[in-house]
Amino acid sequence: MALIFYPPLKSDEANYRAKASALYQQWILPTALAEDRSETFRRDIFNTFAKQGLISIAIPRSFGGGEGSYRSYYAVIEELAKGPIAFPITIGVTNLVMGALLAFGNETQKNTFLPKLSSGEWLGAFSLSEPQSGSDAAALILKATKVPGGYSLTGSKCWCTNGGQADLYLVMARTGEAKNKGISAFLIRKNTSGFSIGKKEKKLGLKTSPLTELIFEDCDIPETALLGEEGQGFEIALSQLEAGRIGIGATGAGLTTAVIERMQRELNGEFGKHCPFKEAIAHKFAEYYARLQGVKQLITVAADLRDQRIDCKILASQIKLLATDLAMETSGDLVQFLGERGVQEEEQVERFFRDAKALQIVEGTNQIQRLLIAKEMEKMI
Ligand SMILES: Cc1cc2nc3c(=O)[nH]c(=O)nc-3n(C[C@H](O)[C@H](O)[C@H](O)COP(=O)(O)OP(=O)(O)OC[C@H]3O[C@@H](n4cnc5c(N)ncnc54)[C@H](O)[C@@H]3O)c2cc1C
Repeated sequence: MALIFYPPLKSDEANYRAKASALYQQWILPTALAEDRSETFRRDIFNTFAKQGLISIAIPRSFGGGEGSYRSYYAVIEELAKGPIAFPITIGVTNLVMGALLAFGNETQKNTFLPKLSSGEWLGAFSLSEPQSGSDAAALILKATKVPGGYSLTGSKCWCTNGGQADLYLVMARTGEAKNKGISAFLIRKNTSGFSIGKKEKKLGLKTSPLTELIFEDCDIPETALLGEEGQGFEIALSQLEAGRIGIGATGAGLTTAVIERMQRELNGEFGKHCPFKEAIAHKFAEYYARLQGVKQLITVAADLRDQRIDCKILASQIKLLATDLAMETSGDLVQFLGERGVQEEEQVERFFRDAKALQIVEGTNQIQRLLIAKEMEKMI
């Protein structure tokens, strides 16, 4: 049994969700604990999802996608986020690269890269952050110097999800002095000479999602690697954050759903029979369920706006903030209420808590989301 949400899914969303759920049960759940421990990214599972058309649901058919609705896409992300969240994160990042290509790529770039990414043959990575420029992303310093026939990159990037696994890296680098307008976006293939993968991070959560440094040493790339215009890189990066933040929100919503369902199963079972404060927990989780229903409504609204190509950046920030804070709050309470069992690896409860923490940081921290929302509010009144 599962929690019920409104509105009921339309048939295409329900079909996609059912497919994701079946694959999740068959492929992800049985080995989730072992892979979290060994920090293994399962490319074969990603390929299985790709074969079922779950990677590129909202991408046009002409580029190998399913041309489905964003409701369907987020329904799949939510379903897959019930387990270790590396898969929805990997799908989300690959979609950021596809989104940037669709919006800013020339015909050659679109025709070359989109079919490979949308079929899952290739995996994408999106590299904006550097040690000194996380929240203040435009302070990046990786240099791309113009040379005859293209650019030469020297420097490094950090915290690149899918690093070492990806086949195509969308890398933001500095081509000019102006803070925002001096940044350009480049499409860099793995195995490009002068480009290598640096340190793989050991982290609190998201254990099965690779996170690495990228190193560029006199890395020469052709002019054709430039996405959009020179100096347009920061605009390109920001353009994908709306999609990314809704995706992270949907991941938070899926994780929260799994947490609430687990707490309810515990309350209905042995734990509930002996728990002296069962009612207090039930009331707290009733409120979480109501809040989750609200977050999911916002994701549905955002999905429809994205289908209509209507800007929803501020809604994306609100969703990211509310969904991931809710994931953190509910998973913390689940761990707390289960006591010692809550911190045992085998119970697969503490992983929710570790993964939720990462969600509050990625795609702009939640402090930055508050800052963005506050700035918009200033303009409203
Ligand atoms: C699991 C994971 C995956 C990631 N994947 C990618 C990826 O694929 N590609 C990529 O480019 N990056 C990625 N990142 C990097 C991520 O985008 C940055 O970690 C994030 O933007 C925060 O930057 P920072 O870590 O440098 O923190 P900082 O910017 O140094 O912030 C530190 C603290 O200060 C707060 N803070 C900063 N500025 C303000 C402000 N103006 N007002 C209030 N508070 C503020 C922040 O909220 C935070 O709490 C990933 C990070 C993680 C953890």
